[in-house]
Amino acid sequence: AVQHNGGNAVCFYTPEMAAAATRRMMLTMHLNHAIDRNELRLVYQPIVDSQGRVRSAEALLRWDHHALGPVSPGEFIPVAEESGLIVPITDWVLSTAIAQMARWEKEGTLPDRVFLNISGQQFLRGNLTGRLAELLDGHPSLRGHLGLEITEQAAVRDLTVAVRTLGELAELGIQAAIDDFGSGYSSLSYVQQLPVAKLKIDRAFVIDVPENPKNNALVRAAVGMAHGLGLTTVAEGVETAEQRDFLVSVGCDMMQGYLFGRPMMPDALADMLRAQAAPTVA
Ligand code: C2E
Ligand code: MG
Ligand code: MG
Ligand code: MG
Repeated sequence: AVQHNGGNAVCFYTPEMAAAATRRMMLTMHLNHAIDRNELRLVYQPIVDSQGRVRSAEALLRWDHHALGPVSPGEFIPVAEESGLIVPITDWVLSTAIAQMARWEKEGTLPDRVFLNISGQQFLRGNLTGRLAELLDGHPSLRGHLGLEITEQAAVRDLTVAVRTLGELAELGIQAAIDDFGSGYSSLSYVQQLPVAKLKIDRAFVIDVPENPKNNALVRAAVGMAHGLGLTTVAEGVETAEQRDFLVSVGCDMMQGYLFGRPMMPDALADMLRAQAAPTVA
């Protein structure tokens, strides 16, 4: 179909584009009720050190729609950003994760850090620091246990705001990590200007180490430069023992992936932490 929208501009719509637009509209409508209807939940994926011990965790959002079934965050987060629903959703994520952390703390299973994903929009425009300060006010002991993951694209889009916001977060004791590092167009020269503590190496680079010599070189270089800048590294999407062994051999500090654990319910993560704390029977 051809649509004339005045002047000489002509847009071509394929049936696929129309179907995608309809699905986005439908998702926006349903997402609008997701919080009230209790359709959102957080799952937690373990992040392990080079010994394979669980140190921290990443909170990942899940949306189980009553009729559509599970919708992946890869699909609904962009919809939430476009529609502005990312504002209440981020607020739900922050308060839900902090409440969970308080429960873990009480039962003695709180990880060193729990990382939450923050969309670029919320990071650059939302009143993130204010809201976090408010939420942490009731839980001062959780301050040193919270981390935020921000994509390099978001951080680089407005370096001035990013530097200021990260500084404010650091004052609250909140650690920042650059998510999906290497997937964008930015470089370590930008990252170097950001007060962040961790670099998460994108799964795209991890997926074919150690077979792909180019990715081996890239991962090795990213780890080396991160360390040179005083940052620690986390590799994403580690699925095999070969990948793990390679990452450990190049000095990658932490790893995350199906090899160590899928995103899981809060109680399952607590069980993992309890199991590794228990003295091993000789
Ligand atoms: P991300 O932050 O880079 O999260 C890592 C993604 O990789 C997760 O997908 C996780 O389930 C997946 N993953 C972890 N280990 C492996 C592995 O070994 N193999 C493979 N194939 N995948 C692995 P998920 O949960 O579908 O999330 C996708 C993206 O959605 C996230 O990427 C993040 O950008 C976004 N997202 C998730 N939760 C939130 C949230 O609460 N807020 C915001 N703003 N974004 C979120
Ligand atoms: Mg992440
Ligand atoms: Mg990531
Ligand atoms: Mg990723």
